[in-house]
Amino acid sequence: MNDFVEVRTVLGKKKISKNTVTLSHEHICCYSEYLNIMSKSYLDKAELAKKSADILKNMKEKYGVELFIDCTPVNIGRDVELLKKVSELSGVDIVCSSGFYYNDEPILDCMSAETLAEFIVGDANNTCAGIIKAAVEYDTVSPFNIKFLKASAIAQNKTGLPIILHTNANNKNGVKAVEILLSENVEPKNIVVGHLSDTNDIEYIKNFTKSGCYVALDRMYDNKTEEYITSKINQINELCEAGYADKLLLSHDDAVFQGFCDKTQIKEPRWSYMFEHIVPKLDDNIANKILKENPLTMLCGMEDYYGIQRTNT
Ligand SMILES: [Zn+2]
Repeated sequence: MNDFVEVRTVLGKKKISKNTVTLSHEHICCYSEYLNIMSKSYLDKAELAKKSADILKNMKEKYGVELFIDCTPVNIGRDVELLKKVSELSGVDIVCSSGFYYNDEPILDCMSAETLAEFIVGDANNTCAGIIKAAVEYDTVSPFNIKFLKASAIAQNKTGLPIILHTNANNKNGVKAVEILLSENVEPKNIVVGHLSDTNDIEYIKNFTKSGCYVALDRMYDNKTEEYITSKINQINELCEAGYADKLLLSHDDAVFQGFCDKTQIKEPRWSYMFEHIVPKLDDNIANKILKENPLTMLCGMEDYYGIQRTNT
């Protein structure tokens, strides 16, 4: 079995060691380009690149993080040139996203799913994106959301890239979103259902693993109470005992510049949390799967990871 797997990074396709630790759902920055146009003091990108690179260098030294999946979709400030700079300065490989967030936007509202899919495919090719981001937030999955999910599905079928879904676990809208993707011929192994650590409803999470999707417990908060830590460990162990260790992803969903608040600034994200408080309490094999193996099988497919000959190409 090969020790490396090919991953699409912002610096092109790269051979990545299977021993690599990955942060599977984070952001360097989420921001509004409009605000950047309106105010020069809103975001200093040179400062952000330097600070982000310093943080990633530290993550590499301390926890062995060598691959970082940036889940920022295009319309909340994805900036590939910034990500390239951070990757070059830090020596950490970065996977970027194509695709759109859930916001209803007038210009995009006028376009068909097919047209939007063409944008995603073209963008994924131009940027060497490794994932397609799609999103639902509210309890009603709107016609706009459905069109975007269809666009993501069409683009997935054309590119083969996995879809990482932003969902709201508390209103359980992931069920409808996955249903739409499946109806558009996306295979479950190419779907990651995100933000499921926001619920303690284990049966809800198991719905997705049962159908073969990846489940992302990717919102580890900076909560050091025994109660919170134990609830997350129990969640992971229960899913593993049910036979879904191959489908679990763990991360924080935090950013160096987190634009989703009234006033924001460049800050230290909580990316150390899971390495300090969750991982040491997991069985080594499980930790290995979650940190090293699963992010790579998610990005490249089990077939490529295990060197199994593809039959469909
Ligand atoms: Zn996110």
